[in-house]
Amino acid sequence: MKTFLLLLFFLGASHGKDTTIVYVCNSPHARKYHLRTDCRGLRNCQYKIVKVSLEEARKSGKTLCGWEK
Ligand SMILES: [Zn+2]
Repeated sequence: MKTFLLLLFFLGASHGKDTTIVYVCNSPHARKYHLRTDCRGLRNCQYKIVKVSLEEARKSGKTLCGWEK
């Protein structure tokens, strides 16, 4: 029983890696993703700010914004 619970824990931990939500500016020139909507890097965004998963952001070639630490 204990082993079973541990296994569930490990599966859950490895599964949840890329479901983090990040924010991107829906501009054709946006290259960055942001962890918060109030980030300085998003203030200049003239387009819609969209919520995507970290995995999606990375797939579209975006990198973490320089204002985030
Ligand atoms: Zn940012």
